[in-house]
Amino acid sequence: MKTLILECQSISKNYGSLKAVNNVSFQLNRKEFLAILGPSGCGKSTILRMIAGLETLDHGKVLLQNLVVSEKGKLVVPEQRGVGMVFQDISLFPHLNVSENIAFGLKGSKKEKRQRVREMLDLVSLTDCANKMPHMLSGGQQQRVAVARSLAPSPELILLDEPFSNLDYQLRVQLRQDIRDILRRKEVSVILVTHDQSEAFTFADRMVIMKQGIIVQEGTPTGIYHAPIDSWVATFVGDANFLPYDAASIYLDSYSQKHDVTGFADDSTLQKNSQQLMVRPEDILVKSARNKKDHGIIQHIDFSGDQQVLKIQLLKGNQIIARVTSRENWQRDQHVTIRIKHFTVFPHSRMTYN
Ligand code: ADP
Repeated sequence: MKTLILECQSISKNYGSLKAVNNVSFQLNRKEFLAILGPSGCGKSTILRMIAGLETLDHGKVLLQNLVVSEKGKLVVPEQRGVGMVFQDISLFPHLNVSENIAFGLKGSKKEKRQRVREMLDLVSLTDCANKMPHMLSGGQQQRVAVARSLAPSPELILLDEPFSNLDYQLRVQLRQDIRDILRRKEVSVILVTHDQSEAFTFADRMVIMKQGIIVQEGTPTGIYHAPIDSWVATFVGDANFLPYDAASIYLDSYSQKHDVTGFADDSTLQKNSQQLMVRPEDILVKSARNKKDHGIIQHIDFSGDQQVLKIQLLKGNQIIARVTSRENWQRDQHVTIRIKHFTVFPHSRMTYN
């Protein structure tokens, strides 16, 4: 049975006239990994700070394990929340060595603390670094120590605020997998704040998408990727083609699959000519055109080793992108036909232009 560890009920935070967080509600189950994804400045960190008790609320409630820890005029201090936090700026104490950093804030006898630190060092594979000072470690190692420190007091909930964004790409990808596995092993609940959609997708069981202080969509990574609520979400979480329904019907056949989107119940009442198809680049099948029956011409090929992205100028107006495997042999100016394998229908009202 799922048990709730965290509930944010209609929480809001204003800075002067700015509604940084505007009436946001979501829940987190025990052992669940949730990502809060949105562009810079949309209010993600403010939510995390409100959960951690580092920021007051103007409206609403935060409940941890069914107890109200924040509401207007009430703030349980961070140390009493049983919440661990890891920030983007690695915030190790520079004058303490790795073991001392991890032990900081731990309660119990010296022996118990030593034991716990050893356990944590083992968990993050840094046993050899126990006596090193933070400046002697790489960025990735420092972030592992920060994770070990946040886990040391056995919190139920860990909050990660863009913890990988100061690291270079290769390290970022590796570290986020390692940290995810470590946190899974410890069976904690986790909220990750990030502006990077691939980070959210690979890390989380569930995601909330934020824009200008509000939640615009909540769902699983696959649900959000394949059934985004509007064109803004569609393009924020990945590449997307938009084609007018009528014009696109020639690229559909009986194998083409429509992805249903909840909340689009009004689809059937809308005229087809006011609908758009949203098609992910990997859901387009490209074939070389025979007998001059082509749909378009390849204008550019972006080869990136593991895949290639073809920019195709359709004869009927639009330019689209298709993602194909890197072993296919395509040429610029080649005439092609396309078939749409999967698509999502967007009523005109779901097309946003900001
Ligand atoms: P995100 O984490 O999504 O980048 P933040 O939660 O940090 O966004 O900030 C949301 C908005 O609130 C931004 O416009 C930011 O400039 C503003 N903001 C955040 N903290 C403060 C503060 N202490 N005082 C004034 N404005 C703030």
